[in-house]
Amino acid sequence: MTTIRLQNTKTRQREDFVPIDPRNLRMYLCGPTVYDRAHLGNSRNVLVFDVLFRLLRHVYGPDHVTYVRNFTDVDDKINARAAETGRAIGDITAETIGWYHDDMDALGALRPTHEPRATDYIAQMITMIADLIAKGHAYAAEGHVLFAVESYENYGALSGRSIDDMIAGARVEVAPYKRNPMDFVLWKPSGDGVPGWSSPWGYGRPGWHIECSAMSHELLGETFDIHGGGNDLMFPHHENEIAQSACAHPQGEFARYWIHNEMLQVEGKKMSKSLGNFFTIRDLLDQGIRGAVIRLVMLGTHYGKTMDWTDARRAEAEGTLRKWYGILHGHGFGPKLVAALKADGKWEPDAEFIGVLANDLNTPGALARLHVLSKGKTPAALAGFANGLEMLGLVNDWAQIPMFDGGEAGPTVAPVIAAQVDALLAERAAARAAKDWARADEVRDILNAAGVQVTDVGGQATWKPGPDFDAAALGDL
Ligand code: AMP
Ligand code: ZN
Repeated sequence: MTTIRLQNTKTRQREDFVPIDPRNLRMYLCGPTVYDRAHLGNSRNVLVFDVLFRLLRHVYGPDHVTYVRNFTDVDDKINARAAETGRAIGDITAETIGWYHDDMDALGALRPTHEPRATDYIAQMITMIADLIAKGHAYAAEGHVLFAVESYENYGALSGRSIDDMIAGARVEVAPYKRNPMDFVLWKPSGDGVPGWSSPWGYGRPGWHIECSAMSHELLGETFDIHGGGNDLMFPHHENEIAQSACAHPQGEFARYWIHNEMLQVEGKKMSKSLGNFFTIRDLLDQGIRGAVIRLVMLGTHYGKTMDWTDARRAEAEGTLRKWYGILHGHGFGPKLVAALKADGKWEPDAEFIGVLANDLNTPGALARLHVLSKGKTPAALAGFANGLEMLGLVNDWAQIPMFDGGEAGPTVAPVIAAQVDALLAERAAARAAKDWARADEVRDILNAAGVQVTDVGGQATWKPGPDFDAAALGDL
């Protein structure tokens, strides 16, 4: 079995990944706060976790991986958007979740197993907060409930900071009801016009961090395998999740492996609204940039490094995919050929490709290997290449391999397959000459089924692969 190695933020080591239960691997990714379109940076952790999800499904079996990514649908940014626009909060969050799905689907990201919405787990949050108070880790004050950071001796261990460093370095909100300035909100009061729920501490709403602790506990249990997010979430969000979960469930370990991705920049600069280099995934899609092109650029940098979105990389990725999809079309890759390769036991990832990918999700290394594999000459030789494209989410449906219009390397047909089509056309011509209409029709049906477009001009037949070209339908070589 493939050994996956992961850089674990918790231990600062690259470790062999050993699942708690190989029949039910459990991973959690902090999801978006839903009030606006996702920007390109927001897609990075989604794509990193999507590749990890695919790799784990390959190694442990598709039914043995549970992936949870939440929607934060209660938050002051959402309330502010509702106040600005006069729209109902439920409309804003429902619309934003729809956009998020559309955008991440376009990038070829598989939907997680569960996508819990925070507002469906308020009861679990209240239970967890009450438990933290009962255990002496939290206190109620002026309608708020705060987590007492001094009650948890490992507070700061993930990001490697002491409480004093954190106070010095962070913009902490000093409030009269806090015992320590680092204490963070588990529950806060809601006034009019702001969503709220009744609780033992009055009408109010949860803080952000408690959401993830409550939802991950409900869906994955008190110990699970992998937790991740952008490295900007390491402190305070993940530190606070750990404190809450470890104190509420001291017998559990919470997450064993923590994966953090670096940030995205644009043309060498931080992506920001004020620099004018801020754009959403939808902006790129609307410019006609395909989801797979965006995905390929994003996978071209290891998740642990800062990545740079540049137009040059976009153009390079487009050229690569034009070539790669052309190779797939040319060799007749489609549902039938893939099924035939599976039946022959040839639908396996290339060992070197998987080895590189499993080494801390080295996507640039895996892509370099695909460049080598793309030089195969027959469908069987290209099986590892095609399988690798699927593993990286660059082909998600073998019935619809994207086609790039025009360009030098449009769909090309491998010589061996072109020879097969030529032979069928010669056979059709011979059958017609011999007035064997039944055989001529049979050959025509085979060519139609394979999506070959034949043009008869002056007794001379020419052909080209149509959009549904499927060489497997041509029959055995
Ligand atoms: P935000 O858009 O700041 O609310 O962040 C939502 C999520 O997107 C968090 O998980 C961040 O880690 C991630 N994120 C935000 N900006 C970037 C960026 N420039 N690069 C990578 N991830 C980002
Ligand atoms: Zn979280």
